Amino acid sequence: MTLKIAVNYSPNFSTKRRIRKNIKFLLIHYTGMYNEKRAIDKLTSIKSKVSCHYFVKKNGQVILMVPDFYIAWHAGISNWKNLKSLNRFSIGIEIQNKGHEHGYHKFSKEQIKSTILLCRKILKKYKIKNNNVLAHSDVSYNRKIDPGEKFPWKILAKNKIGNWHNLDQKLLKKLRKVKISTIEKKEMIKYLKKIGYFVEKRNLKFLKLIKNFQRRYRPELIDGKIDKESLIIAKKISQL
Ligand SMILES: [Zn+2]
Repeated sequence: MTLKIAVNYSPNFSTKRRIRKNIKFLLIHYTGMYNEKRAIDKLTSIKSKVSCHYFVKKNGQVILMVPDFYIAWHAGISNWKNLKSLNRFSIGIEIQNKGHEHGYHKFSKEQIKSTILLCRKILKKYKIKNNNVLAHSDVSYNRKIDPGEKFPWKILAKNKIGNWHNLDQKLLKKLRKVKISTIEKKEMIKYLKKIGYFVEKRNLKFLKLIKNFQRRYRPELIDGKIDKESLIIAKKISQL
C-alpha cells in the first residue's frame, strides 16, 4: 500500500537547509488539542511558532507541513544522550489526539496504519535507527507526556519501527509491583542513562522520568514506581 500525502505548509521552520546526515531521529507526538481543525490551524499559523513535518489526521490522512530538510519546531527543550534541542536532528510527526487534558482516547486504526507507513518510509529514506524512534515524552520527560500510553509502540515495533522487548508476559506480570532494592535502583538509573534518557542529578524529575518510561514500555501501569518489572524491561531495552 502506498501512502498519499497532502500538503499544508507551515511558516514555522528554520530557513537554513540541513544536511541529510543530521536527520537522525524520528519523534512522535500527539497534538493534545480538542479539535483537529484547530490543531492544524495552530501548526500552520505564524503566531504559534510551532510546527511539525507531518500531521496524521483522525481519518489517517497525512499532511506534510514542513519538508524534511528544514527544521520544524516540535520538540522544544529536549535532550537525548549527549544531544540537546532535538529539533535540529529529527523529523516530527504530530498525531491528532485530544490528549490527557481533554479526554485522551485510543488512536484510530487509520492513524496507526498511516503512521506505520509514514515511519517506515522515513526510517528507510534517512537510515534512522530503531533506537532513535522516540516519544516526545522520552526527550522532554520533565514537561511532556505525549504521545502517551495509548500509543501502540508494540505494534509499531512488530512493523520494524522503534524498539521493544520480547520478555515473557507471564513473567512480567509476576514482577509487577514487586519492590526493588537500593542497589537495583542504581541499576535502573544506569539502564535509563544507557537507553538515552537525560538523567542529570541537578534537575532530575525522577517521578516524571519513571512515569514516562512506563508510558513508553509498560503501559499497563503508570505509577512512577520502579518495580522489578520496570527494572527488567529497562535492562532489556538498554541492551538493544
Ligand atoms: Zn509533543
